[in-house]
Amino acid sequence: MTTERSLSAGATIGIIGGGQLGRMLAMAAARLGFHTIVLDPAAAAPAAQVADAQIIAAYDNVTALGELAQRCDVVTYEFENVPVDGVARLDGRVPVRPAPLALEVAQDRLVEKDFLNDLGIATAPYRIVDAQADIEGAVEAVGGRAILKTRRLGYDGKGQLRIDDVASIGSNAFAELGSVPAIAEGFVDFEAEISVICARGVDGECAVFDPARNVHRDGILATSTVPAGVSAATVEAARAAAENLATALDYVGVLGLELFVLGDGSILANEFAPRVHNSGHWTEAVCVPDQFEQHIRAIAGLSLPTPHRTSDCEMTNLIGDDVVDMATLLAEPGAMVHLYGKAEARPGRKMGHVTRVHPSD
Ligand code: AMP
Repeated sequence: MTTERSLSAGATIGIIGGGQLGRMLAMAAARLGFHTIVLDPAAAAPAAQVADAQIIAAYDNVTALGELAQRCDVVTYEFENVPVDGVARLDGRVPVRPAPLALEVAQDRLVEKDFLNDLGIATAPYRIVDAQADIEGAVEAVGGRAILKTRRLGYDGKGQLRIDDVASIGSNAFAELGSVPAIAEGFVDFEAEISVICARGVDGECAVFDPARNVHRDGILATSTVPAGVSAATVEAARAAAENLATALDYVGVLGLELFVLGDGSILANEFAPRVHNSGHWTEAVCVPDQFEQHIRAIAGLSLPTPHRTSDCEMTNLIGDDVVDMATLLAEPGAMVHLYGKAEARPGRKMGHVTRVHPSD
């Protein structure tokens, strides 16, 4: 449903963060006739290469945020570690979607897990770790096998330490984490990891993509496969959890919820991202609309049709030197290649992705 608050073609969308997610958002926005202005401290950031303009400044630069508010009709963000204070300062001057509550919850694993459990969305057991002395008791309380995770600023498996048993806890484990507030999370012997991408509009309606099955390597997403090969009941539980979360956050935009699937088909939430998600990149090849367009539609107050998926597929991240042999990838039938415009292919750096399209049965 298009509302009276919806933006028309020609309006300008501000994007805080200039990485590949911002780049794909800017491309989707352009397709719908919108202009985009990217705020990022790095000149010629991936998103800035395809946006109308870039404001080169830190994410919390008050003058830059003021300029963004003044030049844009709505502001969004493409990563979850945007300083909440800066975004909150924009609120009231220009609509900020999603609202800062989603950032506050997602930026702290403890707050996030409490929030999920309060909604009835189960997670692995967890305990607070504020000092080395807390670790043993916390690991025992969550079942004896655990992953220590910093509460803030962890991503792609960074800020994590695996503990296989209490006896193996190193005397400097807390220091290895950076001596910052952390949690011990019970180790989950999952059958599969899946994620579900959910769009929610200003009118509260949700549109959810089919879940993807995700495989991580060295803590970084390697592949996302659709369909996920889980039961209809698991798909339904995943959808319901994502809608429940989006509604509780009064969310406007796209979020990604990562889940563990257990042997009996039940799910535990791992974490959510208040933004478009790497495990939803496949949607650009086989869904109308894709996750990027859904996000733009949502924040612009436009209608959110149920995504129509035209094919099965598998998305593979191109990490570091994976992009060296482009000729082979480009010669492959049914492979949609997407590069992010990053000059230097460092190890572990996401350089692009390829989605291999397989006709559905
Ligand atoms: P995260 O940064 O929390 O998403 O963790 C990165 C990856 O580590 C996840 O995608 C899982 O593959 C693995 N992992 C994280 N938490 C757990 C857990 N509690 N039990 C088992 N594996 C986990």
